[in-house]
Amino acid sequence: MQDTALYQYLLGLQSPWTVSRVNLDLNSQRVDVWAEHPEDVTWVCPHCTKTLPLYDHAEERTWRHLDSCQFQTHLHARIPRVACGEHGVVQVPVPWAAPRSRFTLLFERLAIDVLRQCDVSGATRILRISWDEAWGVMQRAVTRGRARKQVRMVRRIGVDEKAAAKGHRYLTLVCDLDEGTVEHIAEDRTQASLDGYYTGLTQAQLDGIEAVAMDMWEPYIQATRAQVPEADEKIVFDRFHVMGHLGKAVDTVRKQEHRELMASGNETLKGSKYLWLYSRENVPERRREEFAALRHQALKVGRAWAMKEALRRLWHYVYPASGWKFWKRWYFWATHSRLEPIRKAAETIRRHIDNIVTYYQHPVTNAMSEGLNSQIQKIKSMACGFRNTEHFKTAIYFHCGGLDLYPC
Ligand SMILES: [Zn+2]
Repeated sequence: MQDTALYQYLLGLQSPWTVSRVNLDLNSQRVDVWAEHPEDVTWVCPHCTKTLPLYDHAEERTWRHLDSCQFQTHLHARIPRVACGEHGVVQVPVPWAAPRSRFTLLFERLAIDVLRQCDVSGATRILRISWDEAWGVMQRAVTRGRARKQVRMVRRIGVDEKAAAKGHRYLTLVCDLDEGTVEHIAEDRTQASLDGYYTGLTQAQLDGIEAVAMDMWEPYIQATRAQVPEADEKIVFDRFHVMGHLGKAVDTVRKQEHRELMASGNETLKGSKYLWLYSRENVPERRREEFAALRHQALKVGRAWAMKEALRRLWHYVYPASGWKFWKRWYFWATHSRLEPIRKAAETIRRHIDNIVTYYQHPVTNAMSEGLNSQIQKIKSMACGFRNTEHFKTAIYFHCGGLDLYPC
């Protein structure tokens, strides 16, 4: 078999394209392959599919292809142009590459597979491509995948904010809680950030939303009320965010009490910060005894902690009436605790309680898609500070968008 026939076969080139020449360069470890076609074939205008004769060729272009063993392999060709009466002089598509890509489809597929498995700098080393080329592959894949996305019902959504980088720039993420995919990413965490998701939906899709898990964050509440029919029955304030607010209050109590104790040289609370923030069952084994001893002292933070742990029961009830009864008792306890941070947190929770107990109808939380959250966390740490949020967004859609990324 001749080398031209071999490469025609390896590249999968079909009529009218053939391989005219193959050059192997041992010193630079590369193979160059030239593709050409007979002069007399007709081509199709990419805009109107009219059949036309060859007009001329564009400048020769090069595409990176899958390596031939250890040799980097590059395909060269001059793209034919046709003169369409309606669309002017235009390039025809070539079967081995997407328009404007400098890689063949097969290479681009491989690059997508590698990028899905490792971080960008790892992929650049394995594939021997540049950082910008790797981002190009990801961006094209995401654009393709989003354009192909079918209209479907997303019944239970989670709205969450993520700090995009240091300096507290936020992104708003909308997730499909059942599929574990990121459906929408917007800059900032304003009402407009979430509006952008809702306005992209059809009325049937808006009607189809059954539950929206979110933090007690006014702009998200307003956006949802304005766009989602019967939003008040569908908004469910995320239990982990609610507990997070209470956790902060416990920490404030600890800090104040620690300061008071230290004023008289009492170091009881030194190094105890995380003990009070863990859920009871998550306190590390080696610190259990120490923590039990602390809890048996008459500390303010001990009382605050007990109230935090007690509130977790709110989400364990099955019957709303029992849940309400429990809530009223807890609220009385918290507001009579003489612990100001706890009282304040209890007030915040009371103002939002109607849409916390919607949990009994729709047991959703933002943490439902565990896989998704850890994936996003991984993307964030892998990126060690995305230089721009566009890259962060692209990476999230690429890894978590549930998109069909491959070139056709
Ligand atoms: Zn045309």
